[in-house]
Amino acid sequence: MKTSIIGFPRIGENRELKFATEKYFRKELTIDELETFSKELRQKHWELIKNSGVEGIPSNDFSLYDTTLDAAYLLNIIPKEVTELNLSESEKYFALARGYQGEKGDIKARPMKKWFNTNYHYIVPKFEKETNIFVSGDKIFKEYQEAKNLGINTRPVIVGPFTLLQLSEFAPGVDRAVVAEKLTDAYKEILQRLSELGAEWIQLDEPSLVKDLTFEELQEFKAIYQVLLADSTINVLLQTYFGDIRDAYETVINLPFAGVGLDFIEGRKTLELVKQGFPQDKVLFAGVVNGKNIWRNNYQQTIEVLKQVEQEKLVLTTSCSLLHVPFTTENETFSTEIKQHFAFAKEKLTELAELAAILANTDESLKANQKLFAESRFTENRTVQEKIKALTAADYVRKPVFEERVDVQKTAFNFPVLPTTTIGSFPQTREVKQTRARYKRQEISEETYDQFIAQQINEWIEWQEQIGLDVLVHGEFERNDMVEYFGQNLSGYLFSKNGWVQSYGTRGVKPPIIWGDVAREKPITVKWSAYAQKQTDKIVKGMLTGPVTILNWSFPREDISLKDSTLQIALAIQEEVLDLEKNGVRVIQIDEAALREKLPLRKTDWYSEYLDWSIPAFRLVHSKVQATTQIHTHMCYSEFTDIIPAIDQMDADVISFEASRSNLAILDELKQQNFKTAVGPGVYDIHSPRIPAVEEIKQTIGKILAKVPLEKVWINPDCGLKTRGIPETTASLTNMTEAVKQIREEL
Ligand code: GLN
Ligand code: ZN
Repeated sequence: MKTSIIGFPRIGENRELKFATEKYFRKELTIDELETFSKELRQKHWELIKNSGVEGIPSNDFSLYDTTLDAAYLLNIIPKEVTELNLSESEKYFALARGYQGEKGDIKARPMKKWFNTNYHYIVPKFEKETNIFVSGDKIFKEYQEAKNLGINTRPVIVGPFTLLQLSEFAPGVDRAVVAEKLTDAYKEILQRLSELGAEWIQLDEPSLVKDLTFEELQEFKAIYQVLLADSTINVLLQTYFGDIRDAYETVINLPFAGVGLDFIEGRKTLELVKQGFPQDKVLFAGVVNGKNIWRNNYQQTIEVLKQVEQEKLVLTTSCSLLHVPFTTENETFSTEIKQHFAFAKEKLTELAELAAILANTDESLKANQKLFAESRFTENRTVQEKIKALTAADYVRKPVFEERVDVQKTAFNFPVLPTTTIGSFPQTREVKQTRARYKRQEISEETYDQFIAQQINEWIEWQEQIGLDVLVHGEFERNDMVEYFGQNLSGYLFSKNGWVQSYGTRGVKPPIIWGDVAREKPITVKWSAYAQKQTDKIVKGMLTGPVTILNWSFPREDISLKDSTLQIALAIQEEVLDLEKNGVRVIQIDEAALREKLPLRKTDWYSEYLDWSIPAFRLVHSKVQATTQIHTHMCYSEFTDIIPAIDQMDADVISFEASRSNLAILDELKQQNFKTAVGPGVYDIHSPRIPAVEEIKQTIGKILAKVPLEKVWINPDCGLKTRGIPETTASLTNMTEAVKQIREEL
């Protein structure tokens, strides 16, 4: 084996898996039909990888929802509240992923969290006292056998026990050491059984090793693997990614792993570590092809790196699973000039094969690649570059200070206590999506399209007034995606037709590509925000996406720093903010849904590598507005307990965030750290179709009020509603406003 990949995008070239799974959700497919469909898709992918010349082919990287959930499910790590219901296997699985509401009961989905520094999300496993860990499932064996029957000896992949422990939730009273032992036994059985089936390798993913590790954590890792690797009859590949494993390196190379996978792209110290010594009896899986970005690999640079490695047993691989890039550039309509700069998943397979050939002195592709990188491809924007240079400290500071603005805005807006609002988008029905698509294909005129959007806005404004929301939204019907929509109106951006990347479950995103210097060419949101505000006496919130999120949800350039790219975007959004203000929009929400996403995995790098420039970039966007303009921001996921001071430094007036799936755990921290910004912790989970009852929302609000002063609390769902259907949306929001009404009366 000379080339290998860590994982492949399972959704399929045209998101087939998404559409099939959604059909199953709608009961248009049975579970058996979905399984058959999945089986064919897996076969297609294995054969595609094989035909590309890549030799190390993974299996069990497939999933109907999430591979961490699959691992938990395989090991019977299923909370009691789910096992107690009399659900079928598939119902149980999807109940963990999406919640269950039906004749057999009513339970919430398990919490979902960001997968390290990506926009992929995993379902958080939970260990309880009652959890009986054993190999109860068979997915990993079945998929291995399935490939074997096709004549392909795959390397089954599963998240490793250490990372599984690191990512899981523990119910009170659960002894982690006991869990670790049970888990080790179960993994041992998996190794054993795969070996019996004929597998030569297993890949255990341990990305948690790239984080800062304590002595105790390292000990735990070591203890697990000493037992796991003892008399093992299968080659174990310890796979790491998203950084270097500086804390664990010594421990790792001294354990009897047959192979170790290291990330040479994001792992800043990987080369240095390997140069200090890597055992010659182990196979080094060198992650040299970027699994996260879409640019062509610079072969010359890669070869320079590999020359320094001096490892005989060497396998070329990707820096992480290809799950994080789109499927192929083949169906894209970019000019050849442009397209030659991109490599999506399928093209990365070719890159691996070509690199291996170059190393073996048998390939001509090096020359073409060198030529590609020798030519400059950018059209620069000098004006933007000058503006960035001219920025001073004052450009990043809003005046007057927060405390003064609170009073000014209290008088200006006179909102009731517990003001209610939503995060921005309303359901994107088939009709909405189709109309947008038809307009894009020029099948309907601009006039017809505008009439349609206006009508949607009118209907939803009226409905919001009816149920008594305090701050309304226009609904974002004109937007396909919160980043793409902005990118389309900025210069320097490119868009793929089909560049989908899985975000969670059946949800995908299509990140735009930052191709050159970014600037605002024309107003972006002003038309519809101003229009919506004119339809009502209530306040309508303007909706923007913030610069850090636009950057984090785009494929970034690799020729300038993330900081410089972000500042360019920030200046563009600043112009938009001021334009909205000028046009009568008095509350402006600047979404930073993905602020946390590129937070370095090592705490020591948090400020110096990221927050020191990303938080000021956000402030730059709103620093020039009047005191009477209220700035909101929104973040997906409440996992910011550890960066609360940084969030306060964004200096927004109000922040809403996801909280319902994580049980409002963040509130204690906000209180303790004296958080100044007003907060709207989401009172119900929009990632699940479940409808929260009035009583349930009241209880949640009660919990919030126990921790946060009344005058600082806003009430809202935990994210935008565009992925939801209309019935559950209207029912949930009606319950939400009713809950607030009752609480106001009780106060
Ligand atoms: N305003 C956006 C919406 O409601 C926010 C989405 C998000 O946070 N992911 O759709
Ligand atoms: Zn959100």
